Amino acid sequence: MHLTNRILVTGGAGFIGSFLCERLVSEGHDVICADNFYTGNKNNIEGLLDEPNFELMRHDITFPLYLEVDEIYNLACPASPIHYQRDPVQTTKTCVHGAINVLGLAKRVKARILQASTSEVYGSPFEHPQTESYWGNVNPIGPRSCYDEGKRCAETLFFDYYRQHNLRIRVARIFNTYGPRMHPNDGRVVSNFIVQALLGEPITIFGDGSQTRSFCYVDDLVEGLMRLMNVADDYPGPVNIGNPGEFSILELAEQVIDITGTKSSLVRKPLPQDDPLQRRPDISEAKRALDWEPVTPLAEGLVKTIAYFEDMLKDNAVREKLVQNRRSA
Ligand code: NAD
Ligand code: UDP
Repeated sequence: MHLTNRILVTGGAGFIGSFLCERLVSEGHDVICADNFYTGNKNNIEGLLDEPNFELMRHDITFPLYLEVDEIYNLACPASPIHYQRDPVQTTKTCVHGAINVLGLAKRVKARILQASTSEVYGSPFEHPQTESYWGNVNPIGPRSCYDEGKRCAETLFFDYYRQHNLRIRVARIFNTYGPRMHPNDGRVVSNFIVQALLGEPITIFGDGSQTRSFCYVDDLVEGLMRLMNVADDYPGPVNIGNPGEFSILELAEQVIDITGTKSSLVRKPLPQDDPLQRRPDISEAKRALDWEPVTPLAEGLVKTIAYFEDMLKDNAVREKLVQNRRSA
C-alpha cells in the first residue's frame, strides 16, 4: 500500500521547490507550499493551484508557523549570489531563524525534516572532490558569508535538534542545480549564459573561466532529496546530492554556444570576491545510503533548459521586460 503524507515544502514556489511539490502532489501526498515569494513566484506552481491535494500559503519562515504535518522539506532561502546578497541580513535570518522555526514545528508535531543545505558549506575547498567529512574553508565575514555561514549554522541547529531532541533530521548538501524555471535574471551561471546566448548578448566569463562547477539537472536532484527523506530512520546525513561531472565555466559557455548556435561573443569580467575555484561532489555516500546517482548528462539537461528559456522569450512582452530589467540592473 502506498502511504500518503501531509508534507510542508518551504520555498515551494521557487525553482527546486516547485519541481519537488509537483512530484509529491503527483504521488498523492497532501502538500502545503509555504513561500514569501522573495525569489519564487506563482507561475512556477500554477499547474498545481487547482489540485485538491495542494495548498499555497504566503508565509515568511523567519516567523513561526503552526501546522500539522508528517514531513517538512526546508528549501526556503534565496540561492543565487545576487539574490542572497541583496538583503544579507534577511538571508541569515531566513537560514537561522527560519531553521529554528521549522525545527520547532517538527519537534512539536514529530515530523521528519529535511534541510536543503549546500555545497557552499565547503567554501573554496582545499579538498577535492568534496566528501561529507570535509569541514570546509569559508570566510565568515565576506559577501557570501550570509549564505554560507547561515547554511552552516542551520546544519548546526539541525544536528543539535537531532542530538538534544531526537528529531528525525535529514541534511542534504546540494551542489549547483539547473533546469527550467530558474529565474532568468538571477545571475546564476547556467541561466545567465543561456539568456545571454538567446538574446545575442555577450557571454560574461568571470575571471579566466577556469574555475569549475558540477551541474545537476533538477529532476535528478529532486529524486535524491526524496530518497533521502524516505530512507530508513535515523539517517541524519549530511549527504552530498549533486552531479560529479565537473566542467570549467569556459567549457559550460562552449556547450551553451554549441547548442544554441548563438553568435554571442565572450567577455571577461572580474572574478567576484570569495568565488570558489573548484567544486565537485564525491557522491559515494549518496550511492551507498540512498542508491542514488544522477542520470541526466549536462548536454541533455542543457537542451531541456534552453528549450524552456526559448519558449519564455517567444513572448515579446516578456522578452522586452527581461531586456529592460537587465539594462537597469
Ligand atoms: P529559489 O530562490 O528559486 O527558491 C527559494 C524559494 O524560497 C523562493 O520561492 C523564495 O521566494 C523562498 N523564500 C526565500 N526566503 C524565504 C522566507 N524567509 N520565507 C519563505 N520563503 C522564502 O532557489 P532554489 O534554487 O530553488 O533553491 C532552493 C533551496 O535549495 C535553497 O534553500 C537553496 O539554498 C538550496 N540550494 C540550491 C542550489 C541550487 O543550485 N539551486 C544549490 C545548493 C542549495
Ligand atoms: N559566473 C560567470 N559568469 C556569469 C555568472 C557566473 O563566469 O555570468 C561564474 C561565477 O563566477 C562562478 C560560477 O560561474 O565561478 C558559478 O556561479 P553561480 O553564481 O551560478 O554559482 P555559485 O558561485 O554559487 O556556485
